[in-house]
Amino acid sequence: MRHFIPSFLGALLVALLVTGATSAEPPETLRWRDHVDFLASDAMRGRQTGSPEHLKAAQYVASQFKSFGLEPAGVHGSFLQPVPFVWRRIDEPHTQVALVFADHVEPLVLGMDATVSMAIDEPDSLEAPLVFAGYGISVPEQGYDDLAKIDVKGKVVVYLNGGPASVTEPRRSQAQFAGERWARFKERGALGLIAIRNPRRAEGPWEIVAAQRFSPGMSLAERDVDERQGQRLSLSVNSATAQKWFEGSGHTFAEILALADSGAALPTFDLTPRVRAKVRFEKRTVTSQNVVALLRGRDPQLAREYVVLTGHLDHLGVGVPVAGDSIFNGAMDNASGVATLLEVARALAPAAKRPKRSVLFVVVTGEEKGLLGSYYWTKRPTEPLGKVAANVSIDMVLPIVPLRYLIIQGVDESTLGDLARSEAKDSGIDVLPDPEPQRNRFIRSDQFNFIRAGIPAVALSAGAVKGSPEDSLLHAWIRDRYHQPSDDLAQPIDPDAPAALIRYVTALTARVADAPARPTWSEQSFFRRYAMP
Ligand SMILES: [Zn+2]
Repeated sequence: MRHFIPSFLGALLVALLVTGATSAEPPETLRWRDHVDFLASDAMRGRQTGSPEHLKAAQYVASQFKSFGLEPAGVHGSFLQPVPFVWRRIDEPHTQVALVFADHVEPLVLGMDATVSMAIDEPDSLEAPLVFAGYGISVPEQGYDDLAKIDVKGKVVVYLNGGPASVTEPRRSQAQFAGERWARFKERGALGLIAIRNPRRAEGPWEIVAAQRFSPGMSLAERDVDERQGQRLSLSVNSATAQKWFEGSGHTFAEILALADSGAALPTFDLTPRVRAKVRFEKRTVTSQNVVALLRGRDPQLAREYVVLTGHLDHLGVGVPVAGDSIFNGAMDNASGVATLLEVARALAPAAKRPKRSVLFVVVTGEEKGLLGSYYWTKRPTEPLGKVAANVSIDMVLPIVPLRYLIIQGVDESTLGDLARSEAKDSGIDVLPDPEPQRNRFIRSDQFNFIRAGIPAVALSAGAVKGSPEDSLLHAWIRDRYHQPSDDLAQPIDPDAPAALIRYVTALTARVADAPARPTWSEQSFFRRYAMP
């Protein structure tokens, strides 16, 4: 483990390590800490989807829900919903990817030039022409369509992550969601997708991505819920060596990047080399777990509707060591969120506190594999999906700074957002606009699967005033701990923030569950289309 407390903040913050409780903490924080300590301990080995430790973590969560008096709402009278996955791990020594030019072949160094996704059945062998499709997004209603002028049939598509400034959020984010993107290319006959990592938008250095490439990749095993069906190649390309893909095309990667930096549209054109790939991997099926617990509402009528609270239990498991530590504990991502949900369940469970509608806690697996556990739940819902009134997602809120500001993803999209805003006001919390909409957070966690099912949703994260010490702390966390082994128990949190978060989520849940009417999408919301029959 690695301790990292920026020196300028060390003096500034009354920060405590996650382990080593002190009496200065409110009781909610102390109980929250107990859950985080258990779920993010080294013994949990990073709660990899499908691992025995994930099962143990799921059983812990189930037993906590049970102890608060919640009802099992998984399958077969248990708290668990089994989710079958195809598990794949790359056999890199027997895997080759190369660019084939007319007069020479340029082999790619895996981990250096590119990584191969294990989320799909990669080909035994494939050779295909390449086409550069700009950002690889199609938003015709806003006058932007990278697919309009190119033929992708029988080709592998190369694109740069991101989108032009002319396409507004959240539409830009939605267009970049893997399932949505592949659907557009698949219907036009493309064979595969190659994403060039955009260095301006990436979270953390390439080395972190490269180190993750030996981590197993997964897809949902039931074919009708596997959105990547038909995709034969999926690579992630390092921007530092991306130029080689553009040799002979009359364009340079530097030029593409400069255009992207300025927010401009990107050109689309055929690339000169063909891609040749021979991919070997180990493959098996594994089962992981969603945990589903029901807090039955007190109103006989409204209790048939549900406010669903989600947070993911899985994290990245054990991987290539960083600074001598190979366990990706996932304390903030997202043991912290699961701990928050548990304490919200405890707070709402007493008869006198029960809201009118039922509250369903859906603690999901496979989030780090592409939001798969939540997608599975929305496709195999354990309660009728049409009765789900709203979804609140708690994923990596980062209670490492005082909870004076919240960023509420989706706040302007629905009346659920209005309720979240009012509750924040009543709780003395200011709602800040998302300072980094280009990070696509509204589609990057489990709430997006609920949105796609037509259900109004919001997701929460801690915010800070730009340029403040708290802002620096949040940025330093993303840089130094996000998806790294240092997201462990030896990191500072704000002693009051978990308690404040638990109180806020509890109050918001009650407010939504007690409201006379179910939340609705705003007239002008892009996401409203998913709710239309
Ligand atoms: Zn994560």
